[in-house]
Amino acid sequence: MDWQKVLAERNTRMKASEIRELLKLLDQPEIISFAGGIPDPALFPTQAFADAMHATLTGPASGAALQYSVSEGYRPLRDWIAGQMAAIGVPCDADNILITSGSQQALDYLGKLFLDPDDTALVTWPTYMGALGAFNAYQPRYERLDPHSNRPVEALAEAASEAGGRVKFAYLSADFANPTGETLDRAGREALLDMAESLDIAVIEDAAYQVLRYDGAPVAPILALELARKGDLEACRTIYCGSFSKVLSPGLRVGWVVAAKPVIARLVLMKQAADLHSPTLNQIATDHVARAIFPEHVARLRSVYAARRDAMLAALAQHMPEGVRWTRPEGGMFVWLTLPEGMDGAALLAQSLKTEKVAFVPGRAFFADGSNGNTLRLAFSVADEAMIAEGIRRLGRLIGGA
Ligand code: PMP
Repeated sequence: MDWQKVLAERNTRMKASEIRELLKLLDQPEIISFAGGIPDPALFPTQAFADAMHATLTGPASGAALQYSVSEGYRPLRDWIAGQMAAIGVPCDADNILITSGSQQALDYLGKLFLDPDDTALVTWPTYMGALGAFNAYQPRYERLDPHSNRPVEALAEAASEAGGRVKFAYLSADFANPTGETLDRAGREALLDMAESLDIAVIEDAAYQVLRYDGAPVAPILALELARKGDLEACRTIYCGSFSKVLSPGLRVGWVVAAKPVIARLVLMKQAADLHSPTLNQIATDHVARAIFPEHVARLRSVYAARRDAMLAALAQHMPEGVRWTRPEGGMFVWLTLPEGMDGAALLAQSLKTEKVAFVPGRAFFADGSNGNTLRLAFSVADEAMIAEGIRRLGRLIGGA
């Protein structure tokens, strides 16, 4: 069978990345990995989940836990999330919340909701590569989102219409972004809202790392700032995507969207059509565990990850040669490194895996136009402090000798 003849056009933009191929080598035990943007499995609240699942499956609601359930998501969990949202400046109803299978599913649905082929999505340069992967299926073009730039919005709108579509949304992770670790300040968030108003587009706020702040003062979510302007969530254009992945467990695939009700209603229809609902038992267990341990667990994660971030920053200062720059994140899991001009992150990875046994993700894949090859992402979430110091020492040696 010649599959090419029957494939839909949208598949042409969906490609396996060369990096994923390289990263398959990571299974070797001697590798020190700064590659995966994943939580340390040693920090999962395993016992709390075991207790919650056992209690659910041996209790009176065991049938319901194994049964189909509503597309909107498990109501008590949505109520708990509503409480969390209120605490960060977004009081809302359970009806403003949809439970998704991780926030990744929300990105796919939002791409499906907004993007016709040749529409424009505004994304940061760099941005989360999984967002590009999700949006690519809907064949958009990308323009650079820079809330601090004073590029006139008319130019963006014109370029979008010349390309045969219109600007539909701005997507960003405002706190401890993947891949840079950087946080957009309040003025940048306000400027972004002004820009979204002028362009009349949606804002997708990806808050996957938001609770993982280690120091510095929290910045209000974009949705909270917009709500403060408008006084009514139903008037807001910001769509907030949250996730339990980085804090409780990514394997259970529980995330959520908060938005005005008409947006939630559309997403619910999409969820019905796609997978009916997120796994019932996982939602119930997440609800139990969140209610039982969330604040203490977050505090524990913060102290462990902060120490790893500090170890990475100290090792970078000690071992990186002249001409290498890096970010100093106040939270999250990533440090973003810029190599001297002309060096290539992917070539460095191939060499590093061979001679230094250190892995990271080359930066190019995080740019919608594949530019900026002289960058790389280092995750500090999984290796312990001693491994971090040793891995960065080796990487500094490699870059210095390159
Ligand atoms: N957004 C960002 C910025 C991420 O880094 C990730 C995971 N790497 C996701 C969304 C998706 O996470 P999940 O689907 O597990 O919630």
